[in-house]
Amino acid sequence: MSADTGWIDTARRVLPRFLRLSRRTAPTWHLTSIADIDPDRLAEDGVEAFIWDVDGTLMSHHADRVDPSLAARFDQLLADPRFRHAIVSNCQLPRFAGLGEIFPQLPIVLGFETPAGPAFRVLEGGVESRLGPGREHLPVLGTGDPGPEVAPMRKPAAELVDVALGQIGLDRPDNAVMVGDQYFTDIVSANLAGARSIKVRTFDPPSFPGPVRYSQVFERGWVRLMRALGLATSGG
Ligand SMILES: [Mg+2]
Repeated sequence: MSADTGWIDTARRVLPRFLRLSRRTAPTWHLTSIADIDPDRLAEDGVEAFIWDVDGTLMSHHADRVDPSLAARFDQLLADPRFRHAIVSNCQLPRFAGLGEIFPQLPIVLGFETPAGPAFRVLEGGVESRLGPGREHLPVLGTGDPGPEVAPMRKPAAELVDVALGQIGLDRPDNAVMVGDQYFTDIVSANLAGARSIKVRTFDPPSFPGPVRYSQVFERGWVRLMRALGLATSGG
């Protein structure tokens, strides 16, 4: 499967639960970009950890570094001893390995559904760990693809946030904030996991494949409608 068809898997996962998830699309905060994050304000609000989306939040689609216009704030947050950090991305394996090189200091979580239950790959410091009851179904990274019985687990699966929080040793999800550019993946996963969330505008929309861009436009309009009708909340 090519890297550009991941949105199909996301759509397959999201559509059946579309209406229920539509009601969980309200972020805790809306910001234009991560450059507007105020570390002091978040620390005062009890935030101890950031769970980051990557593409469209920290950089252009599939770029190889945090965008220079965002790097100063991102690096400042990484260096702030008040916060821990992890990454949860809906990417595929080649991009996952690439993210490990871009963010060697952060745990990066990727999820799968297997016949034995959920399984997770966590990449940190160049070392991969496999977790969860289905982990035996995942070949070691770089040694081949899993069989057809293994399917990606993508945001908005709350388990991805749970595993990320476990990796950084935070047992209170409400003290974590998910930062992302997509309502139906990033914000809903935060709400389902009981975390707080910051919705940023998609960074560099023209860098995304056409279908992803169309879905982003649709998503924005739909969530705006849900909000206008008073139907979008962060709670259940
Ligand atoms: Mg994104």
